[in-house]
Amino acid sequence: MTALPSPAVREKVKDYITAGRVRIVTATRDEVDALVLGSSPDPYLVAYNESQGWFCGCPARVTCSHLLAVALVWRPGLRDDAQAFLDLNLTTTEDGS
Ligand SMILES: [Zn+2]
Repeated sequence: MTALPSPAVREKVKDYITAGRVRIVTATRDEVDALVLGSSPDPYLVAYNESQGWFCGCPARVTCSHLLAVALVWRPGLRDDAQAFLDLNLTTTEDGS
């Protein structure tokens, strides 16, 4: 469905992370709440939990750079396949068994 992030998106994600624009509010192993300062003056709320999947408050209804940035800060091990991780969690429901 969704292709790998374009170079432009990767640059954006890298910028969010290196510029400290990702602020993790609360994080556990299974859930995260974060704020990402994007192009709007107000940061976007980005959240993930197992029952509802990923959420970002930005206007994009796709896997956006904010989700990717939070995923990478939250779980750095996902760096290589964050997109695959997000696609999985956006489109399927895993029971974790
Ligand atoms: Zn977003």
